[in-house]
Amino acid sequence: MPIGKVRSAIRALTPYRPGKSAAQAEQEHGIVDAIKLASNENPFPPLPSVIEAVNGAAGNANRYADHRATALRHRLADHVGVAPEQITVGCGSVGLLQQLCLTYVDPGDEVVFPWLSFEAYPVYTKMMDGVAVSPPLVDHAFDMEAVAAAVNQNTKLVMLATPNNPTGTAVSSAEIKHLLETIPSNVVVLVDEAYREFADPDLGDPVTDLLPHHHNVVITRTFSKAYGLAGLRVGYAITDPDIITEMDKILLAFAVNGAAQAAALATLDAIDEYQPRIRLLLDERTRMVDALTSAGHALPDAQANFVYLPLGDSTEKVCFGLERRGVVTRPFPGDGIRVTIGTPAENDRFLAALSDTLETKTG
Ligand SMILES: *Cc1c(COP(=O)(O)O)cnc(C)c1O
Repeated sequence: MPIGKVRSAIRALTPYRPGKSAAQAEQEHGIVDAIKLASNENPFPPLPSVIEAVNGAAGNANRYADHRATALRHRLADHVGVAPEQITVGCGSVGLLQQLCLTYVDPGDEVVFPWLSFEAYPVYTKMMDGVAVSPPLVDHAFDMEAVAAAVNQNTKLVMLATPNNPTGTAVSSAEIKHLLETIPSNVVVLVDEAYREFADPDLGDPVTDLLPHHHNVVITRTFSKAYGLAGLRVGYAITDPDIITEMDKILLAFAVNGAAQAAALATLDAIDEYQPRIRLLLDERTRMVDALTSAGHALPDAQANFVYLPLGDSTEKVCFGLERRGVVTRPFPGDGIRVTIGTPAENDRFLAALSDTLETKTG
C-alpha cells in the first residue's frame, strides 16, 4: 500500500529510466571501455572559458542566484532577436515543459503529440491527469494532417519535437504554420527545438516564421545538446509575454542555478567557437548515415545529433549485442535503436560493433 493518499495519476506513472551509463553496462556484461551513445549528449566538454565561468560562480554558491536569471534572459533576447519579455528560462527545457503542462492542463484535458516522440510528453500529460492523444508516425515522421485532425474542443496543448526524438525527422515552419492556421488559436502549440542547431536551416525558424503571426506558439531550446551543458540544466522558451508571465509564476524557486546561468552566458559569449564542433558532429552524422545506408539499412531522415535504426522486432537483441561489445545505445522496444553521434572514434566503435552483432546470429 502507498503511504498517504498518492494521487492515482502519479501511482499510474512508471519511473523515468535514463539512458544506461557506460559504467553500468561494463558491470552488467563484465567488460571494460564501454562507451555511451544513449542520451544524445555532446561528446565534447564545455569550452575552457565556460568552465572558468562555472568555477567563478561556484565561489558565490553560498548565495541564491537571480531567480529570474535576468541577465541571461536579456542576452537570450538579443541572441534570438526578440524582446526580453518574450523569453523565460527553466531547469532544462524539460523544466519548461513541466511548467507548460502545469499552466494549461486540467484533469481530462487533451494533449496532442505524435508518437513515437519525446518520453517526457506522456509523463507530464499524465502527471496533470491529462489525456494523451497520439496520432502514430508515418514512416517515422509526423503526420501533420493527423495531428490537426486530433485537435478538438478538449485540446489544450499540441507538442511537436522537431527534430523529433527518437526518430530524428523534422517538420518545417511552413508545415507548423499550416497546422496553426487549421486549429483554434486557443490551443497552445509547443515547438520543442532541443536539436535545432543540427537541423537543416531550410526548415525555417519558428521565431521569425511563426511567432509574429501566432501568439499561441511556444518555442523551447536548450544548452544541453549542441552546447554541451546537459549536466547544468538550462533551457529557454520564446513566446508571447502573456504566456511567459503565467509560466514564470510556477518556475521552481532558483531552478536555474548560478553556475548554470554563468555557463549559459559564457556559452553565448563564445557561440562562434561552438560552430566547428557542431559542423564536426554533422559531418560525422553524414558519415554514419552513409555507412549504415551502404550496409543496407533504411534510415529515417536524420536531422539531429543521432541516427535512428528501425530494427522492429530485433531491436532488443541488437541493442543487447551492441552492449556486449561495449556500445550503449537507446532501444525503443519493438521499434528501433537511437544512436547518438559521438566522436569519430566512438562512431567507428559503433559501426564495427553493429556489423559484428548482425553477422553473429546469436547477437
Ligand atoms: C533532450 C531533449 C530535451 C531536454 O533537454 P533539456 O534542456 O536537457 O531538459 C527536450 N526535448 C527533447 C525532444 C529532447 O530530446
